[in-house]
Amino acid sequence: MKTKCLYINTIGCQMNVYDSEQIAKILTPLGYKMNSSIEFADLIIVNTCAIREKAEQKVFSFLGRIAGLKRKKPGLIIGVGGCVAQQEGERILERMPHVDLIFGTHAICRLPYLIEKIEAERCSIVDVEMSEAIEEFESVIESPLDKTDPKVTSFVTIMRGCDNFCTYCVVPHVRGRETSRFPESIASEVRGLVKPGVREVTLLGQNVNSYGKKEKLASFTQLLALVNEIDGLFRIRFTTSHPKDLSDDLISAFKDLDKLCNHIHLPVQSGSNKILKKMNRKYNKELYLEKIDKLRNNCSGIAITSDIIVGFPGETRADFEETLDLIKEVEFDGIFAFKYSDRPNVPAARFANKIAEQEKKDRLQTLLNLQEYFTTKKNRALVGSNELILVEGLSKKKVDSDDTQSKCQYVQWTGRTATNKVVNFIQSEATIPRDRILKGKIVNVKIEKAYSHSLCGKPTLKGEQSYAA
Ligand code: SAM
Ligand code: SF4
Repeated sequence: MKTKCLYINTIGCQMNVYDSEQIAKILTPLGYKMNSSIEFADLIIVNTCAIREKAEQKVFSFLGRIAGLKRKKPGLIIGVGGCVAQQEGERILERMPHVDLIFGTHAICRLPYLIEKIEAERCSIVDVEMSEAIEEFESVIESPLDKTDPKVTSFVTIMRGCDNFCTYCVVPHVRGRETSRFPESIASEVRGLVKPGVREVTLLGQNVNSYGKKEKLASFTQLLALVNEIDGLFRIRFTTSHPKDLSDDLISAFKDLDKLCNHIHLPVQSGSNKILKKMNRKYNKELYLEKIDKLRNNCSGIAITSDIIVGFPGETRADFEETLDLIKEVEFDGIFAFKYSDRPNVPAARFANKIAEQEKKDRLQTLLNLQEYFTTKKNRALVGSNELILVEGLSKKKVDSDDTQSKCQYVQWTGRTATNKVVNFIQSEATIPRDRILKGKIVNVKIEKAYSHSLCGKPTLKGEQSYAA
């Protein structure tokens, strides 16, 4: 079979990254192989995100830019998948006639059939049908990439969709109702990832705490316990847990499961009860703070990160100040903050008292400046400590070292602490035993410097003891 080049542009969240990997795997039997050069592509897929207006604009500007490629290479197939495809459907073809395929968030499993049809008939297709069941791809779970360049970390989607209907959010509309995968399929996927070298998985869902509830499959903590048993896996992470559903069970799991990393991403969105109500978040500031206390009392040193939206319709200066107060009270390890943007067909788009763009920008900057102080403070507190780092790979080759006069070559490794902080460390090439590739190993690193978004240190070079696994 002739090998054809596949180029995927992934825009958006971790779920899209996971979906793009599934797309690459599912198209392998058709002869498609991933290639990072767009000019060689026989098939370009844009995996899109509709969560904020900016992400959606990115999709259309990319599609506009690749129109010329199609003119040069008429056999080229262009497909648009993901949330914007689900939301806009046929309208994308009207705006971008050089696109051949629109496939929605539930159509990935049908891609081989859709692509073969386009190859044979040179037609354009729109498939945005949604279904309740989740399709599994077990038969193509291993990709050739797993063997040539094994990854250390991987995402694994455990559920799809969302039933929460926060008033600003497009996810329930474009990803459908919440549906969970079978625990055994998830565990078998993780085992399949561990074989070629994955050592850390991040389990993905919009609200992992309600995993399996509707289908009565298993609780999320039971799923975590099952994954925790997998030999060869070192670390487990998950995202996202909705504060209203964060259970005592899950809080205990941080103590009980040795592979579960000491970090939780718990999006608060706002520190004002009035705004939380308008967002339909179904918790208030007091309940959120109670959960934070429980987490910190039960899991010493747990890192806590969050999402915040600034400039939600009707957010007054006083509401915003309450969000800043919450940040000061919690002292998050990190925050993803966003300016509110109207999304099609969601209730908040029709709310009155929209906040001016400049005001949203100013609030965002104020919030980010405040958070920078806490992130740096937390990082600085780690200077002098020893941290276990799962090494993800080389970040730069041949680094200049400022603490040595010698001329020997250095390599810079990068990895993360269990609390999800990026740590870089350099090592003289001479000190690395040839048979010890650090990628995928846990290394004990003494932290020497702290920056706002990363840490820097030295491996504690006590021979083999510094390599914990
Ligand atoms: N399911 C997660 C939860 O409930 O926290 C969040 C998933 S969403 C993909 C990621 C983040 O995007 C949200 O936490 C929210 O902060 C942000 N977001 C969603 N809709 C938004 C909008 N219309 N404008 C700005 N930010 C938005
Ligand atoms: Fe969107 Fe809310 Fe569902 Fe998160 S919980 S995906 S913010 S609707």
